[in-house]
Amino acid sequence: MQDSDKFDCIIVGGGVAGLSAAYVLAKANLKILLVERGDWTGAKNVSGGVLWGPTAFDIFPALLNDFSADCPYERVITNRRLSFMSETSATTFDFKTDNFYKKPYNGISVLRSRFDKWLGQQVEEAIAESDFAEDSLVATGILVDRLLLEDNKVVGIGAGEDTFSSDCVIIAEGVNSLLTRAVGLQTGFVEAELVGTGIKEVWQFDQDMLEAKFQLEGDKGMSNEFVGCTQGVEGGAFLYTNKDTISLGMVLGLAALREHKKAPYDLLDSFKQHPAIRPILKHGKMVEYSAHVVPVGDIRLVPKKLYMSGAMVVGDAAGLLLNTGKAIEGMNMAMESGRQAAYTVIDAKKRQDYSESFLKSYQERLAETFVLKDMIRFQGAVKFIHNPAMFDRYPLFVNTILERAFTVDGKPKKKMTEILPEIIKEQNLSYWELLSTAVKGGLNL
Ligand SMILES: Cc1cc2nc3c(=O)[nH]c(=O)nc-3n(C[C@H](O)[C@H](O)[C@H](O)COP(=O)(O)OP(=O)(O)OC[C@H]3O[C@@H](n4cnc5c(N)ncnc54)[C@H](O)[C@@H]3O)c2cc1C
Repeated sequence: MQDSDKFDCIIVGGGVAGLSAAYVLAKANLKILLVERGDWTGAKNVSGGVLWGPTAFDIFPALLNDFSADCPYERVITNRRLSFMSETSATTFDFKTDNFYKKPYNGISVLRSRFDKWLGQQVEEAIAESDFAEDSLVATGILVDRLLLEDNKVVGIGAGEDTFSSDCVIIAEGVNSLLTRAVGLQTGFVEAELVGTGIKEVWQFDQDMLEAKFQLEGDKGMSNEFVGCTQGVEGGAFLYTNKDTISLGMVLGLAALREHKKAPYDLLDSFKQHPAIRPILKHGKMVEYSAHVVPVGDIRLVPKKLYMSGAMVVGDAAGLLLNTGKAIEGMNMAMESGRQAAYTVIDAKKRQDYSESFLKSYQERLAETFVLKDMIRFQGAVKFIHNPAMFDRYPLFVNTILERAFTVDGKPKKKMTEILPEIIKEQNLSYWELLSTAVKGGLNL
């Protein structure tokens, strides 16, 4: 390939991280190539989730417009629920506020194949308006199989027989991170305890019925996280409402699954049989199933260096995801890291300096955003929620207290001061353990 064909930046991966980077670069009038292995951006992406915070709206202001049929997201999350489950019962904290209905929204539910496709269209429009309308492109259906290196500097990409050169490559390939590992930015071997398996089903309903089931008004939506439903395996479940579907699934620790000799789909099946979930699924039809690896939010998965000469790594490929039990924050972190990498490329082009020492500024920028700040600040929470008791003993404890407190059986009732010590003894808990857990939770969450 001749030098006139050289791109300012090649982005590998058309997920939310890569598309955010590409959009910012196209808007800044750089010559770019985004390569996605799926037939369209979003084709390979797991079905959905909740996109938290304002980052997406900042990067793609068109998201703030009022849409009708073309709306790329599903619902605005104004209702948050957290459920503690035992085998037979569920205790749910339910928070609802219209304060989350103000733009930019606090959270929106998305179906990725649709959402990423729309982001891809935004990138193509930005390219069409740039000076490189004929030269920049979003190329789909192409698997990048290598990064091209010259004197330890990334100088482009290879896909089969084809090679493409660029001043810089943004690696946005997602959690499998084969290219990231091949150039030594990520360790060759990723420990099983640092990643989980995400499984997800999409269930379709008549829209009125769905809104009635979850007491939803207009395009408002609900997200529910669950703990105690994984038969002791580290992890939890989630249920997010979309327009006329729900995304229902689990994220389970890979090492814990092996240790407990459990299969993810068996756990999901028994979750669906729980008395709190079974009636929700009545009259629904499962229309999609997917599974994907997911970082668990441990900072040890984040490479020490997110850059090298000629390349930066963003999103899941860099292990940038936080899960503190309150929500999974992966998409917003992916988009913010994509944006910060793009800003770094824009500066690098001005200086004509794509060296490692300059691209280091990407990591410095990221350290100033919520992405690295939250990941570092909430490592205590990540450890706290990985306490094995969180997955069975504590949810059982909560449900037993409420069951006893609500029981009316014709016998004289007990006061809480009698119920609590009884349950603590029966379940082999101790006041000290409960108190120290409560303090740790308070300090870390
Ligand atoms: C079950 C589950 C539930 C989740 N729920 C949520 C949630 O509710 N909220 C949230 O914020 N996050 C959630 N996440 C995490 C979120 O999906 C990720 O953090 C996010 O998708 C990361 O974006 P990314 O762009 O880095 O990677 P991806 O979205 O994985 O995109 C990577 C892209 O690169 C492409 N690609 C990969 N390799 C190549 C190659 N060699 N050549 C060309 N193309 C390539 C892929 O096809 C893909 O399109 C969930 C994850 C799972 C598994």
